[in-house]
Amino acid sequence: MSKQHIVIIGGGAAGFFAALSAKKHHPTAQVSILEKSSKLLAKVKVSGGGRCNVTHACFDNKQLSTYYPRGENYLKKAFEQFNAQSTIDWFAERGIRMKTYPDGCLFPESNDSQTIIDCFLSEAKKLGVHIWMNQGVKKIEVLPHGFKLHSDQKIVDATRVIVTTGGQPKRSNFAWLEELGHDIVEPLPSLFTFNMPENPVRELMGTVVEKASVRVEGTKLLGQGPLLITHWGMSGPAVLLLSAWGARILAEKTYHFHVLVNWLNDKKEVDLRADIEHTAQLHGAKKVQNLNPFPITNRLWHFLLTKADIPSEIRWHELGKKNTNKLVNILLNDRYEVKGKTTFKEEFVTAGGVAMTNIDIRNMESKRVPGLHFAGEILDIDGVTGGFNFQAAWTTGYIAGKNCLD
Ligand SMILES: Cc1cc2nc3c(=O)[nH]c(=O)nc-3n(C[C@H](O)[C@H](O)[C@H](O)COP(=O)(O)OP(=O)(O)OC[C@H]3O[C@@H](n4cnc5c(N)ncnc54)[C@H](O)[C@@H]3O)c2cc1C
Repeated sequence: MSKQHIVIIGGGAAGFFAALSAKKHHPTAQVSILEKSSKLLAKVKVSGGGRCNVTHACFDNKQLSTYYPRGENYLKKAFEQFNAQSTIDWFAERGIRMKTYPDGCLFPESNDSQTIIDCFLSEAKKLGVHIWMNQGVKKIEVLPHGFKLHSDQKIVDATRVIVTTGGQPKRSNFAWLEELGHDIVEPLPSLFTFNMPENPVRELMGTVVEKASVRVEGTKLLGQGPLLITHWGMSGPAVLLLSAWGARILAEKTYHFHVLVNWLNDKKEVDLRADIEHTAQLHGAKKVQNLNPFPITNRLWHFLLTKADIPSEIRWHELGKKNTNKLVNILLNDRYEVKGKTTFKEEFVTAGGVAMTNIDIRNMESKRVPGLHFAGEILDIDGVTGGFNFQAAWTTGYIAGKNCLD
């Protein structure tokens, strides 16, 4: 019998992890990676600002799965085979230690994504994984006992195939997989920042509020966490969370909607009114603009007072009902128009892709084409920022590689 040939299409994060897992679990099989471009692991290189946020310090599988706006239930099962601890152990076994930051993100101790790339390349070499560059696969021909892959320059025979071609912004990029009977969930961007053209808030560029809440008006979408004012509008974890959880709703609104910002996180109106009264009692003679009792910068405080039309000379004891109402409203329900989005430079992903209903999560095999497997961002799985997208790539790649042969 001729040697079994496992071919991985795509030399990115999921592709390498699938190839290394396949070779480890099926050492007698030939394992090859076909990569379209002249670069391997290009996204790993630029990830996490060049440092590669490898995973997240979340060691409960159920909780880990809640960081995925799409794919949560499938990943909960998949993490039983390979989770965040497995990732840490996998790299540690290969001499790469991770550093955990206070926000839970894990980076290699070297703080350099090249460490991860070097590890994958040396493992692939050691195990004898064949790598073919400049081989964009255009068609998968299904044969009675295997596949013929048609790439730019070759026709390659394969016993099993693992597709790891990553997130694709255009529906047309999925045509070759649709032809094989796969359902495609419309691809859309996730993890983007909000543009607020012409809005004077942009003059506060660089301002950070450590704990804010942002709601999308008319929806239940809520993002909480640090909020950053940028040259374009608003960014930071609170906004990125909204963009991920609201990827589809915001696309339907063609990225034109209003947000309501609570600059004091989840402070309730009744508590804020008590704070205002307390400040008026303690510092009644002080000018409101000179005494900012809230955890926001003085620049933002002055901006909000002006926006709320609160007289600049007014003192705390002179606020009265009308100005108190204005102050409460601007601090808890500050409304901004969002018109458009900007790609977040640290990390962006595609929501949508090959439908998970087409996939057997136990081995990542297509339910439409036996012997064909999928892993990584090509699937309708995506996470929020913090190392979750790589974790999904490692997990699904590992499972596909391990279980693609009996
Ligand atoms: C700037 C940036 C920073 C990021 N930082 C982080 C981070 O720090 N932490 C995190 O968890 N996530 C991060 N992400 C997300 C993460 O990089 C992706 O989720 C992850 O790379 C997906 O892995 P993948 O292997 O599925 O796809 P990719 O890494 O995109 O790899 C797909 C590969 O397939 C190749 N390919 C495509 N089509 C074909 C074809 N037809 N034939 C052959 N080859 C093909 C591509 O050229 C590519 O090499 C970041 C993303 C970006 C854009």
